[in-house]
Amino acid sequence: MAVILMILDGLGGKINTSALSKSKHPNMDSLLKNGTCGLIQIHSDKRVPESEGAHLELFGYSPEIYLKGRGPLEALGAGIKLCNGDIAFRTNFATIDSKGKVLDRRAGRIKSKEAKKLEKEINSIKIKGAEIIFKQTVDHRGVLILRGKGLSHEITNTDPAHPKEGELISNWKNKKYLKSVPIKNSKEAKRTAEIINEFTKKSIEILSKNKMNKSRILPANILLLRGPGYYCPIAPMKERFGIKACCIAGGALYKGCACYVGMDNINVKGATGDEFTDLNAKIKATLKAVKKYDLVFLHIKATDVFGHDKNCKKKIEFIEKIDKAIKPLMKLKNTPIIITGDHATPCSIGEHTSDPVPILIYADEIPNDKIKVFNEKNCAKGELGLIYGKHLMPIITYLLGL
Ligand SMILES: [Zn+2]
Repeated sequence: MAVILMILDGLGGKINTSALSKSKHPNMDSLLKNGTCGLIQIHSDKRVPESEGAHLELFGYSPEIYLKGRGPLEALGAGIKLCNGDIAFRTNFATIDSKGKVLDRRAGRIKSKEAKKLEKEINSIKIKGAEIIFKQTVDHRGVLILRGKGLSHEITNTDPAHPKEGELISNWKNKKYLKSVPIKNSKEAKRTAEIINEFTKKSIEILSKNKMNKSRILPANILLLRGPGYYCPIAPMKERFGIKACCIAGGALYKGCACYVGMDNINVKGATGDEFTDLNAKIKATLKAVKKYDLVFLHIKATDVFGHDKNCKKKIEFIEKIDKAIKPLMKLKNTPIIITGDHATPCSIGEHTSDPVPILIYADEIPNDKIKVFNEKNCAKGELGLIYGKHLMPIITYLLGL
């Protein structure tokens, strides 16, 4: 027996106008006819969830304890093996002028083929006190690891659009790249900020000399850093809950969250973490994975993307597409299915909100709500009531008979 946990990123919306309430999803409704529903408030203090904290909360790992920045999760998701004490950042290749003013935060949206060529250059940078490990991931994006003793993640970013974690400066244009400064008065933070500033200086020097860069209108002549995080291994899900789990996702952050809590990542060809993802391939992989695992975490990203774009029409269409794709799951026997989101991204707002998210649980031996349609309004009347994100893992262990 296995439980399938489907997280449709940013699924939730405002109660009467949500994309879920406006879409037709007969397969989800049919699961609900034999199941129960409710609303899930991700964080019990009702703060607005970010995807990484929300996923850790839903996996039973309190983000207050376990979340030490986004960088390490992105790095794990990119397939990098981290060591205890590593400091990891998310990076952007960007373009600056001779005075350090950021002209383009994405270096003209440099493509992977070209950006990959700069990976070696960055990895050749030597700095006393820390090893530099850089991996380009998708187009202008990448991850940077500092490996060494006595390092800290408690420093500011060098990206002027994100001076501090959780802070987005939309009028960053005309701003220079930033010097990193410690946010904690510690020897480690001071030293790490110095290392980062030296790294930035050297990366500008080395990238400016690059031949391919010289031919670009917007050369990738700096690596901007954000999301510093500290990596420390934690007790995996198998140890904590006795659950053997796997992840089927396209986005690096979600693969990283899964890897961090000890899930196996199943790489699916065509799973891209955007609207072009191959949903059928992901469902096919899920059908295979339920034979080997206790918990199959299936992540679908585009619902959140359309919420951020305020594109309600596309969010509705995508929910309908997901609904069609899940049909093969309905033939499974003895396999509870949970469908929920990690937060609300209402199309009317275009940002994450703290609204509770609808949740549907389909299983053989649970009370039936007699609710026919899956949406926020009906979920508010569900037998499950209003639960917190941290309550999900106990439900999963219950469904697995543990
Ligand atoms: Zn999310």
